[in-house]
Amino acid sequence: MKAIVVHQCGGPEQLHFQQTAAPVAGPGQALVRVTHAGVNFIDIYFRMGLYKADLPMILGMEAAGVVESVGEGVTEVAPGDRVAYAGPRGAYAEYAVTPAWQLVKIPSGVSGELAAAAMLQGMTAHYLTHSTFPLQQGHTCLVHAAAGGAGQCIVQMAKRRGARVIATVGTAAKAELARQAGADEVILYEQVDFAAETRRLTDGKGVDVVYDSVGASTFVKSLDSLRPRGMMVTFGNASGPVPAVEPLLLNAKGSLFLTRPTLAHHIATRDELLWRAGDVLSWLASGDLKLHIHQIYPLSDARQAQEDLAARRTTGKLLLAV
Ligand code: NDP
Repeated sequence: MKAIVVHQCGGPEQLHFQQTAAPVAGPGQALVRVTHAGVNFIDIYFRMGLYKADLPMILGMEAAGVVESVGEGVTEVAPGDRVAYAGPRGAYAEYAVTPAWQLVKIPSGVSGELAAAAMLQGMTAHYLTHSTFPLQQGHTCLVHAAAGGAGQCIVQMAKRRGARVIATVGTAAKAELARQAGADEVILYEQVDFAAETRRLTDGKGVDVVYDSVGASTFVKSLDSLRPRGMMVTFGNASGPVPAVEPLLLNAKGSLFLTRPTLAHHIATRDELLWRAGDVLSWLASGDLKLHIHQIYPLSDARQAQEDLAARRTTGKLLLAV
């Protein structure tokens, strides 16, 4: 099969489009013929070696496709089912093997393209807004990189839960997208001190929660944007990983809560996976969740897709058509 294989961690030049052996479904697993794979920032972290995996590896942690075959004991899906998933690595390929319990059937009203686009960032936005800090009416949240893939989903779900959303983005064009997603206020954080502006917009109080995927460059100012006893959710490293933090800093900045969550721990059981994926896919089908697809690249152009994502040239979702 054709796949994007990484033999050595490093820059985008380490993405090799090549022939490799197709995987085989073992007990409890399903073989999926991939039609669309999602491109996510986490793929870049694995390619760079910031997140560790055995080499050689096939990148990609999100896909939609059709079940080709199943291994012994599989009950969740059957050959011919349209399915999507987020989690197991190996999606930048014509075929991928996943534990069958991690597959979700795609409802009839949702295209494979949209399902592939929704799984990872959609379920991330779901756990952040429903579980990590369950937003309610009366809450105000700060969402960084709000025109990005994860960002646009977080803004929509935060509004759906009745919260006020203050968004940050890098450019005026991205500000427009954040507003379309529902943001009440948008800050151009390359030009304006977002902590001071957030204080101004909240009458000096600060926000209840910050959802920060940018990491190193926004971390301290995100703490400065919170109300006393607010929650700092650092969930990504787009500008680099956040360095070590002294717990006393949280005291000094207002008895803050700090968490560093990841999706895998929020879809670790089939029940939780079906709850989050079910919500996300049904909102897609009803039009309550809108996904902005930046571009669909051919599988062979995975390198270009990662370069565009890392260079802040994209908005919304990037997909590979396989
Ligand atoms: P995005 O589409 O959000 O792209 C990243 C965006 O980050 C850029 O477009 C840019 O927006 C902003 N950014 C700010 N500084 C930089 C920088 N120095 N380099 C690059 N980008 C920068 O990507 P994703 O939606 O795929 O992912 C967003 C983040 O969320 C990633 O860090 C990812 O790892 C994390 N994530 C975490 C998960 C979890 O469970 N913990 C799950 C899913 C995603 P702008 O120009 O507006 O600043």
